[in-house]
Amino acid sequence: MPTRVVFGAGTVSQLAAEVERLGAKRALLISTPGRAEMVRAVAKGLSVAGLFDKAVMHTPIAAVEAARAMAKSVDADCCVAVGGGSTIGFGKAIALTSSLPVVAVPTTYSGSEMTNIWGISEGGAKKTGRDVKVLPKAVIYDASLTLDLPPKTSAASGMNAMAHCAEALYAHDGNPIVSLIAEEGIRALAKALPAVVQAPKDLEARTAALYGAWLAGMTIATTGNGLHHKLCHVLGGFGLPHAETHSIVLPHALRYNGVAAGAMRRIARAMGVDDAPTGIWELEKRMGLAMRLADVGMKEADIERAARVAVQAPYPNPRPVEYAPVLELLHNAYEGKKP
Ligand code: NAD
Repeated sequence: MPTRVVFGAGTVSQLAAEVERLGAKRALLISTPGRAEMVRAVAKGLSVAGLFDKAVMHTPIAAVEAARAMAKSVDADCCVAVGGGSTIGFGKAIALTSSLPVVAVPTTYSGSEMTNIWGISEGGAKKTGRDVKVLPKAVIYDASLTLDLPPKTSAASGMNAMAHCAEALYAHDGNPIVSLIAEEGIRALAKALPAVVQAPKDLEARTAALYGAWLAGMTIATTGNGLHHKLCHVLGGFGLPHAETHSIVLPHALRYNGVAAGAMRRIARAMGVDDAPTGIWELEKRMGLAMRLADVGMKEADIERAARVAVQAPYPNPRPVEYAPVLELLHNAYEGKKP
């Protein structure tokens, strides 16, 4: 695999060695505003050129330009992103135009660290693309860094990972190997996430959830996205929070895609339930997640516009993406109906 992975509690102590392995000597650390101190502590022993601590969700272009300017001004020769998908997204955005290598230390379950996918928001829309330059050269999965991730953020982020696995199972360009990875990812996440919510400091459960995230990232890195990811990208452009939106939409998108019967059977089997969409919905409810788009900032007046945008340039999907049923899906997700 093109990405080197170091996995296990305590392995962040190998960060300096991983950066050295790349031949880099001037790391630009990247974090979200509240987590700079933690990132500095993690980077002890590393030769640091600077710290960009203004990573925010959805990688808005103005913040990206500031990060790129900083990387240039401190003469960074690599990016070390410690945090969730937002933070890693900034490392990728810098790499896209500079080719600097990225080392990722994920602290959520977004799976972004394993993908060559970048995303940058501009003018209310998110542009995404794939480029090998943004694929992290090394990833350190250390569950001890995730113990303070709040239970609900953990659960929502884990359902974002679950969505990668689910859509990989019916992707137009899927294959039997990626399906094995996806099914194992769903199995790992369905078991680990409720345990994390119940006992957020349980290192074993946290480690199992990171394992699920690793698998999930590998699936989305390999296959194309379907209706579910398309809807979440559209809703992200409306300012909705990424992981929570994935979590709320997923059971409804799976119900929409019920024609992909083989994929639904595999999702249900991995979760130990009879029906995939209901099983996902019930797992989310059990974990105390928000169940309605109305709860995370969606305005009812925007539903029709979201449906129109989603059907304009649809991603390949097992069932044709059509306005009326997509509108119904969004209404159901808005109201949090059981699928
Ligand atoms: P996030 O990175 O925005 O993190 C959510 C919040 O949790 C932030 O406030 C962060 O500071 C905090 N946090 C992170 N780790 C923590 C920890 N260990 N302890 C306490 N607090 C912690 O959320 P996310 O869901 O991980 O990432 C979402 C972003 O990732 C979106 O922009 C999405 O588009 C992107 N993404 C990209 C890919 C890809 O392949 N390119 C895949 C999935 C997600």
